[in-house]
Amino acid sequence: NSINLAIIAGSASSEHDVSLRSAQTIIDALQASHISFTPLYLDKNNNLLLIESNNYENLSPSKSVVLKKHAMNEHFLYDSDGTIINKIDLVFPVLHGQYGEDGAIQGYLEILGIPYIGSSITASAIAMDKELTKIYLKSLGIPTVPHYILHRDASIPSYNTLSENLNSVVLFVKPARCGSSIGVSKVSNQEELTIALQEAFRHDGKLLIEPALNVRELEIAVLEDATSIQASSAGEIVCTQGFYDYTQKYDTSSSAKLYIPTQLNSEILQQIQNYAIKTHKALNCRHLSRVDFFLTGDNQIYVNEINTLPGFTSHSMYPLLWQHAGVSITDLVSRWIHSVLA
Ligand code: ADP
Ligand code: MG
Ligand code: MG
Repeated sequence: NSINLAIIAGSASSEHDVSLRSAQTIIDALQASHISFTPLYLDKNNNLLLIESNNYENLSPSKSVVLKKHAMNEHFLYDSDGTIINKIDLVFPVLHGQYGEDGAIQGYLEILGIPYIGSSITASAIAMDKELTKIYLKSLGIPTVPHYILHRDASIPSYNTLSENLNSVVLFVKPARCGSSIGVSKVSNQEELTIALQEAFRHDGKLLIEPALNVRELEIAVLEDATSIQASSAGEIVCTQGFYDYTQKYDTSSSAKLYIPTQLNSEILQQIQNYAIKTHKALNCRHLSRVDFFLTGDNQIYVNEINTLPGFTSHSMYPLLWQHAGVSITDLVSRWIHSVLA
């Protein structure tokens, strides 16, 4: 009676395509393992479909399915005629951003009573919201970048006012609840600010404006299983031009370089690893998270954000940091399965 894991990818999120690439990397790894899995696709209208080809990148016509409770602690996948396709023991929502990383799918799975890998509703929702994350981290004494919150209907301060308030001529504008740098812009005058606000408001009704810091960008992968919580070594992103935007994150010809692990003073490394674990625990995250840092020239550390379902593409930091430590994607998934079913 083997365990069957359902992978869910896609969704109406603006990170739909990234999710498919993450899920593909994961199922490619699982195909060479003893873990049995069923790949499911949430389409751009959030309809659940079965992927019969093990291929998320070239989606073939797939049939509509329903996940349902069959009996106490027993769940099945049904087709639209109500015929059982197979048993599902747990779900790994490999979804980024809205619907998948914000507590929505987690709430759905809670209602169905299906166990799942990753953070629960509240942790997901707080981590997805960059303002709530900062409020939380501040209460723990973990330093975060100063910010200004702007709601869609509020009056908009001028560039000069924001620049004075945040003590910086270059500013970052970002949606409060997005990822993959979608809707994020760097601005240095009124005209750029106006365009950036318009773009960011397309993605979220709440924005953050921050001083653009001249910093090193460091990331720690947190791995929690049934018995421990571990912080990886630090990865670093170096962008030779601009910032770590969508293109630099996902284009194979990206000019951004990843250093895994990076050279870091051992006290700084220990401090950011501590902050990573403290952040993961404080938000009540589960199984996995990637905590992202900024390090200034005079060694001031800031937590920029925490991602509860970090990218899993073939050049994403989370799987690469653990691979470097000798933990493969299959090992990761296998540990989480055991931890969920323990
Ligand atoms: P996302 O959740 O979309 O990844 P981030 O807050 O991580 O949002 O912003 C995306 C990228 O923008 C970061 O990886 C970094 O390169 C740049 N960035 C964001 N905020 C700042 C800031 N205050 N100073 C300098 N760079 C920033
Ligand atoms: Mg993010
Ligand atoms: Mg980020």
